[in-house]
Amino acid sequence: MATTQPKHHEALDAAARVPSESDLETLSRQLNRPVRDVVEIGARCVCGNPLVATTAPRLSSGIPFPTTYYLTHPVITAAVSRLEAAGVMNEMNEELGANAALAAAYASAHDHYLAVRDAIGERSGTGEVPEIAGVSAGGMPTRVKCLHVLVGHSLAAGPGVNPLGDRALAAIAEWWTPEVCRCAGAWDTEGEAPIRDRSRHVKTQAGDPETKKRERAAARAAREAAEAAGQEG
Ligand SMILES: [Zn+2]
Repeated sequence: MATTQPKHHEALDAAARVPSESDLETLSRQLNRPVRDVVEIGARCVCGNPLVATTAPRLSSGIPFPTTYYLTHPVITAAVSRLEAAGVMNEMNEELGANAALAAAYASAHDHYLAVRDAIGERSGTGEVPEIAGVSAGGMPTRVKCLHVLVGHSLAAGPGVNPLGDRALAAIAEWWTPEVCRCAGAWDTEGEAPIRDRSRHVKTQAGDPETKKRERAAARAAREAAEAAGQEG
């Protein structure tokens, strides 16, 4: 039985989406690398820890970025990887070809993704990003290419928006469910966090020629984009 959500539904309210310094440190620990360009938290554990990092549709370097939601919780990412390894995406793609109702619901999920991404662009000051207009992620609207993307979307949107993300979430229930915190021991909470890149804050502090700084920022953004693309699949 599907729940019906408003067209632009997001799981977290505005206050809960705001990332604290502690959230950003947790994300870096979960991913074991410094996070950059995270503008919001898309979903949280019942304990409050981030599950999904939200990136604006344009990185601070200027690069367009279609993949809004990035699944960060190691227990969930590992469980979703197991589904992918078990061939679940092939089954879903076959079913999308044969089940018109499912295909329509999945196409609506794509529309939701784009609408919310526009809203996030507006909130974060990115504005419209014409380069990626109509382009979502994870294979939407007609294919399934990355279950991590779909699960990230389902967690950030709440149930009833992305039918295949919801299904993948149900399928990992033996490892993770929304009602139970599985954070303990899921990532290293001791020692130094992977250092957060603070280049945006020290930009004006002399040293390097402006060009070099821009080159380094572009290289970083390209690496991040490549890493995000690496989650595709
Ligand atoms: Zn937790």
